[in-house]
Amino acid sequence: MLIPARGMQSIGTETAFEVLARAQALAAQGRDIVNLGIGQPDFKTAPHIVEAACQALRDGHHGYTPAKGILPLRQAVARDLDRRYGAAVDAEHILIVPGGKVTIWFAILMFGEPDNEILYPDPGFPVYESAIGFTGATPVRIPLREENGFAFSADDVLARLSPWSRLLILNSPANPTGGVASRAELDTLAEGLKRFPQVAILSDEIYSAMLYDGRAHVSLLDYPHLRDRVILLDGWSKTYAMTGWRLGYGVWPERLIEGATKLAINSHSCVNAAAQYAGIAALEGPQEATAAMLDTFATRRRLIVDGLNDLPGVRCVEPGGAFYAFPNITGTGFSSAALQRRLLEEAGVAVIAGTSFGREGEGFLRFSYAASTDAIAEGLARIRRFLESAA
Ligand code: PLP
Repeated sequence: MLIPARGMQSIGTETAFEVLARAQALAAQGRDIVNLGIGQPDFKTAPHIVEAACQALRDGHHGYTPAKGILPLRQAVARDLDRRYGAAVDAEHILIVPGGKVTIWFAILMFGEPDNEILYPDPGFPVYESAIGFTGATPVRIPLREENGFAFSADDVLARLSPWSRLLILNSPANPTGGVASRAELDTLAEGLKRFPQVAILSDEIYSAMLYDGRAHVSLLDYPHLRDRVILLDGWSKTYAMTGWRLGYGVWPERLIEGATKLAINSHSCVNAAAQYAGIAALEGPQEATAAMLDTFATRRRLIVDGLNDLPGVRCVEPGGAFYAFPNITGTGFSSAALQRRLLEEAGVAVIAGTSFGREGEGFLRFSYAASTDAIAEGLARIRRFLESAA
C-alpha cells in the first residue's frame, strides 16, 4: 500500500478550477453556460508583449536563465516599484517565479512547521490554507467582515498574534472579496507589528494595479521599519492579462532571499526564458492596454454590484479592488454550496461558493466580473429567474 506524506491529507484545492471544469463539461454537452467563476482577465496579452517573447525565441534565448531571473527583468521590476511606490528595491532581492502562487508556497514552506502559527485571511485565496496545512503549521484565521467592506481590521490581526506566530499573510486588494486595506489600518498594523519582531509578513499584492474610484494602492513596501521582514508578492498575471504565461515575482528581505533562491533551484530551476523577456516589455512598454482593461473592469463593477443588489435576497458591498464581487446571499435561504451548484446546473451560471475561500465565506458567493457586460447582464437575468422561481 502506498503511504503518501501526512501533509497530503491537508492539502486543498482551488474550487474555481473544478467549477471551470464542470462548466466546460456542461458546455461540451451543448449547455449555454455564463462563466462568472474564473479569476482571470478576459483580455489577450498586449501584442508588444507577445512580440517580445517571440523575438526572445528568435534570438536564441532557449536555455536556462539564472535561478533568480534575468538581471534586466529584475532591474525592470525594481524600476517599476520605484515608479509606483517610490520604493528603493535592490534587484538582488527580487526572485522571478512561475506565477504568483510560487511566492506563496516558498514563504509558507520557509516558515511553516508543526508548532508554528501562520495567520491568513478568511475568506481568502484558498492556496494559503492549503499550503499551511501541508507544512503542519497551525492555521490562524483572520476573519474578514462584510461590515468592514472585507478589509482586515488591524486590531483583529494583532489580537491573534502570539509568540508562536511566524508568518502573517495579507492580501489587498483581495480575492475573493475585492476588499482593500486602508492606509490607516495598515499604519496601525505596522505599528503593532513592532511588538512581534519574529513575524514575517507575506503581502500578496497581485491585484495592486486594480483599484477603483481613484484609490491608490498602499504597498507594504511603504513601511521602512518592516522592510527586513516583508515578502512582497506581485506579478504579471492580472495586471497584464498574462495568467497563462506563468510569471510572477517576490521581493524578499536580505536575510531570506538566499533561502528563497535555493527553493527555486530545488524546484523549477528558473522561469521560461521567453516569458521573462515578455515581462520586461510589459513593465517598460506602453501601459495603455492595462489602463483600458481597468476602465472596462470599472464599468463592469458598477453593472454587477448594482445588479446583485437588485436581486431578491442578495446584498453586495462595493468591492474596492480586484475584479470580484462577494455578495451576501443569506436572504435567498440557500447555503453557498447549494446555490453555487443549483445556479450552475439549473440556471447555467458558474459562480463560486464563498466557502471555497474559508468557513467565513458561508452565506456568500464570489462573482468574477472578468467577463463581458453581456455575459454579466445575462448571468444576472438568469439568476433573477432562478431565485424568483425558487421563492
Ligand atoms: N494571489 C491571489 C490573491 C490570487 O487571486 C492569485 C490568482 O488568482 C494568485 C495569488 C496567483 O496568481 P498566479 O496566477 O500568478 O499564480
